[in-house]
Amino acid sequence: MNIGFAGLGIMGSAMAINLLKAGFNITVWNRSANKCAPLASMGAAVADSPRALAERCDIVIAMMANPQAVQLVRDGKDGIIAGLTKGKGYLDMSTVDVATSIESARLAHDKGALFLEAPVGGSRKPAEDATLTIMAAGDQALYETSLPVMEKMGKKIMFLGETGQAARMKLANNLVMCGALTALCEGLALASASGLNTAQLLEVLDSGAVSNPMFRLKGPQIAANKEFPAAFPLKHMQKDLRLALRLAEETGQPLFATATINELYKTALSEGLGDSDFAAVSLIIRK
Ligand code: NAP
Repeated sequence: MNIGFAGLGIMGSAMAINLLKAGFNITVWNRSANKCAPLASMGAAVADSPRALAERCDIVIAMMANPQAVQLVRDGKDGIIAGLTKGKGYLDMSTVDVATSIESARLAHDKGALFLEAPVGGSRKPAEDATLTIMAAGDQALYETSLPVMEKMGKKIMFLGETGQAARMKLANNLVMCGALTALCEGLALASASGLNTAQLLEVLDSGAVSNPMFRLKGPQIAANKEFPAAFPLKHMQKDLRLALRLAEETGQPLFATATINELYKTALSEGLGDSDFAAVSLIIRK
């Protein structure tokens, strides 16, 4: 099976490398062409447009920053859709809104191709370790065909039904994650301001009901409150909050805490922290 991979950012690079290591025939494309070089040196072919990627592959995977980036690589004369033909598969693993996924499915179906949305849970390290959670929805036939591919990127893979269900699930997941991370930042800020030992607070949290891998991974970094190299860029988390709030409005479900947390993330963005890790919101809280 020939696999195309568009979008070699933090997540896409690691995921594509795992597919190469698993022995798949991989062709890559990225807007900034220099990011293709490490993959090419490991044996990947490089396409000169998303269209060329789709033309030479059976399944095209996209891992783009946001809905706008998905549209830019999907549409137009050099886009993925232009290269799709009957029976091919288009697998979008980016985190986007429901409307974007539904439009991707419609465009793929118009070409006789299949579509699957498959956003992921997990960050840089789970992407490297192939332990992502993959939430898939759309054409079940493409889910079945691409399962052996997804199994080389993730450890928990779920089929959730019709297109849109995975986008909804991913947004619900991320608002929980972001809320928990923000609470951790505030707890550590309060501990520090009160003269407590922050390492001891992390120890207390880890031995209680909220013990989790994210607190263990990011806790010491937030306690130090200095360097926040991106594993999950803050600008992408604010995008997810924005999309979750839009979904909430569409469904009539108020999200009291998420709306407030979104304001915090918007402030962090306006302070130039978009390319830092989303834990850098701690710098705003402790100001
Ligand atoms: P990233 O490192 O910022 O990479 C984003 C990718 O999108 C890059 O390939 C970038 O190309 C491309 N891109 C951005 N704007 C574009 C445009 N206008 N036209 C064409 N290409 C464009 O992001 P990431 O962290 O890998 O995240 C990718 C997706 O996964 C996002 O939807 C994010 O929400 C989601 N996600 C991320 C994490 C995480 O922890 N990082 C976890 C789960 C899900 P260039 O290289 O040219 O900039």
